[in-house]
Amino acid sequence: MSPEQRTTTDVVIAGGGPVGIFLGILLLQAGVSVRVLERRSQRSGHSRAIGIHPPALQVLASAGVVDQLVGEGTAIRRGEARSRGRLVATLPFEDVSPIYPFVLALQQCRTDDILERRLLELDPDALVRGVQVFSMDDDGDGVVVRAVPESGEGSPREFRARIGVASDGAKSVLRDRMDVGVRRTKYPDTYLMGDFADAPESNEDRNAVLYLEPDGIVESFPLPGGIRRWVMRTRSLDREPTATSLAKEIRRRTGVVLDPTSNTMLSAFEVRSQLVTTMIHGRTVLLGDAAHEISPIGGQGMNLGWLDAADLAPLITASLRAALSGPARGRALASFDSRRRRAAVVASRQAHLNMMLGRPLPARVLAARNRIMAAAIGAGPVGLIVARRFTMH
Ligand SMILES: Cc1cc2nc3c(=O)[nH]c(=O)nc-3n(C[C@H](O)[C@H](O)[C@H](O)COP(=O)(O)OP(=O)(O)OC[C@H]3O[C@@H](n4cnc5c(N)ncnc54)[C@H](O)[C@@H]3O)c2cc1C
Repeated sequence: MSPEQRTTTDVVIAGGGPVGIFLGILLLQAGVSVRVLERRSQRSGHSRAIGIHPPALQVLASAGVVDQLVGEGTAIRRGEARSRGRLVATLPFEDVSPIYPFVLALQQCRTDDILERRLLELDPDALVRGVQVFSMDDDGDGVVVRAVPESGEGSPREFRARIGVASDGAKSVLRDRMDVGVRRTKYPDTYLMGDFADAPESNEDRNAVLYLEPDGIVESFPLPGGIRRWVMRTRSLDREPTATSLAKEIRRRTGVVLDPTSNTMLSAFEVRSQLVTTMIHGRTVLLGDAAHEISPIGGQGMNLGWLDAADLAPLITASLRAALSGPARGRALASFDSRRRRAAVVASRQAHLNMMLGRPLPARVLAARNRIMAAAIGAGPVGLIVARRFTMH
């Protein structure tokens, strides 16, 4: 392999999703050299993950991107539960955080763009697009990362680093190559989601709304640009969804009328969760969805990955500067591993509760359940606990 095809750096991050890019920013800010290797030659334009919670906003502030995110996003300050045309409970987010008393909603393509620009501002060569990593091996001295061009044309590339990070998503091929156990759970829940122009009557209203209906939950979240994300529980995976069928069913369950021609995204999905038995594998760390996949119901996965990265970055920096070495480094990494996997378990339980809340129920049982829920949330301290849980505190 010629020297042009071989690159040496402190840290190689495989996967330039929101988690890999964010870790790259934190490391560059600390003076660590980084290459983020991303398979896609262009960023995805899909709206995908939209919810950014207060604890994540705090760590994003340390990457110098929070003002732009908050400037572009929609601050959701209140959640509402409705059922059969009536308000069941409201959940204000004002008291969950003194700095960011809201959940921020922003399309992931915009979040990714803001993060990527910040990374490239710190080092224009930090992101290498169009390369598919297929191995990340410890050679006793460091990590050797091998990649091929995604296009299939051109020569293989090799990167040498002192530390490797695999943040290549839920279907991580690097995780599968490592000798790491994965606990997987598949849930019976299926959903259909779509982005539509906001109904005119709710244009001023930037609340998140959960419609708790006998045939299953319908969730609705405001987005910038006069758009709303609608997520509806379905009886089975809808393999041929249309905007018209989703709008029709939302109207049947909730009474809200949507214009199918305004639909900009439509996706049907199943739910599973995964958690590795360890995030540390020698000089390689598994991060983000590669380490833990959480049900999207509750919108926590990306946030959890950012919190992993914020926890890991100072450990990597200290290790590279030999400020952390020997048994102390081993203990610090073991503690990181157990802390972050515990956080993933908590997020997974919360997501499970969210999914249970949205399952179909006979109308009478649903009404009784809603009365109990309204009474509990109405009792001040319980309401605050629930609001904190919904905002990942
Ligand atoms: C419908 C839906 C809605 C969601 N909503 C929310 C939400 O509101 N809030 C929230 O917090 N989370 C949400 N999530 C979860 C969130 O999308 C993920 O947790 C998040 O994207 C994980 O980020 P990541 O960087 O770890 O992985 P990914 O976003 O999957 O990024 C991995 C990257 O690695 C690249 N890659 C993969 N393999 C290779 C390889 N071999 N070589 C090089 N590159 C590679 C991929 O192209 C990709 O860019 C949602 C998920 C779904 C499906």
